[in-house]
This record gives sequence, structure tokens and C-alpha cells, in this order.
Amino acid sequence: MRKAIIAGNWKMNKTIAEAQSLAEGVKIDLAEETGVDVVLCPPFTALKTVSDVVSGTQIKLGAQNVHFEQSGAYTGEVSPAMLRDLYCHYVILGHSERRAMFGESSAIVNRKVKAALAGNLLPIVCVGETLEERDAGQVETVVETQVRESLADISAEEMKKIIIAYEPVWAIGTGRTASPEQAQEVHALIRDVLRKMYDDGVAQAVRIQYGGSMKPSNAAELLAQPDIDGGLIGGAALDPHSFVQIVAAARQD
Ligand code: PEP
Repeated sequence: MRKAIIAGNWKMNKTIAEAQSLAEGVKIDLAEETGVDVVLCPPFTALKTVSDVVSGTQIKLGAQNVHFEQSGAYTGEVSPAMLRDLYCHYVILGHSERRAMFGESSAIVNRKVKAALAGNLLPIVCVGETLEERDAGQVETVVETQVRESLADISAEEMKKIIIAYEPVWAIGTGRTASPEQAQEVHALIRDVLRKMYDDGVAQAVRIQYGGSMKPSNAAELLAQPDIDGGLIGGAALDPHSFVQIVAAARQD
């Protein structure tokens, strides 16, 4: 059975003091072991503070981006080793906001996936179609292409460490969630692509999160789908109680 993973993507929100209070709120509400992998992804500037708050707890730290080189003249960028220094375990890669606003292609995402793995970080690789692509009947082609290109030349052993997040762009920050059936259909498709790229063992091992307006009121039915193994949460992760309620919905005991 795949262990559920719930990650909060705080995006470009929270000053250091605000991040500390949000992380403390989550920590207090998650005092009891959940059996769920819980990850907080604050902005770079708050990583150290959140790292200190969650140290020694079940909560792990993630970043929202990383550069594909390990060091050098890349003004404004952050390397995998710098994230590991702050006790980051995870890194979100290829979020649709980065793909759409910062020109991140799947080829760039692929370089980042390799750099993250080499730097001992676990990548959360985001894929998902726009509304235009869905309306044009292109979901399968778009998602399969993103998965194949973002994960090109990754070995089976490496693949088992990677988490995929299916995030339909039209559901991110819009309050419009994919129905459990719509989400399950694409998650099953992604697992099928992994089966074709690797084998059934890898396809069954990889965790696939859903992301897109997941909140306490819809988390349980999404997480009950057979191929949905967790959530990548944006807006609802900015409220500790909402986030912890989603973690509770993911508990498998
Ligand atoms: C996200 O940006 O990863 C996300 C899922 O955002 P929201 O939950 O706000 O839709």
C-alpha cells in the first residue's frame, strides 16, 4: 500500500513571523502520529524558520523550486545542496505557475528532477492540462507528454523516489475542483504511462497526489479514489486547521 502524502504549497505567501506561526499551528494540531507523510513548502525566505519549528516532528520540509546546477554563476537561484543545508527533504518541480509564468518547459523540469535527486531531494513533479486543452479533448496527450518529458532518463530506482502531482490548471486557486471521477481517470492514466515507461512494480509504487482547490470539504472523496495517494494543497494550506483536516482525511488507519 502506498503511504499517503499531503504537502502544503504556501507559494509567495508568509513573512518569517507569519510562517513561524502557521508552522507552529500545524505542529500543535499534528502532535499525534498520523501515518501520513506531511510536508510544508514555505517560500525560500522562511525555510530556516519552518525547519526549526518542525525539527524532530513528523512534519517534513519542502521547497517550491530549485536550480538544475549544483553551484555557479546563476544569480538569484538556489541549489539542491543549499536546500539540504536547511533540512529540506522535498522540492516541488514544474508547478503550472512556473511552467506558465517563468517559461519552465518539461525539458527544464527534467534537468531539475535529475539535479534534485543527485542532491538527495525528493521531487514532487507537477503535471496537468489547461481548460482549453481539456475542452479540446487533449488531456491524455498533454499529461502523457509532460510525464514522459519531465521524467526522461530517470531510472526505475530513482522513479520510486519521485512523487507526481496531477494538478489540472483550471482547478488551481479557482475554487473549481476536478470531480473525484475526473481526477481518478487522469491518475489512472498517469499510472498507465509509468507502466509503459517502466513496469507494473514502478507504476504501483509511485505516489500520485491530486492538487487543485483541495479543501476539508472535498478531500475525503478525492483521497478515497484508488489512484489518488495524497494532495498538494495551495490555498487551504495557509490555514493550519484546514490543512490538518486534510491530513486527517488522508489517514489510512
Ligand atoms: C497548487 O498551487 O498547487 C494548488 C493546488 O493550489 P490550490 O489548492 O489553491 O488550488
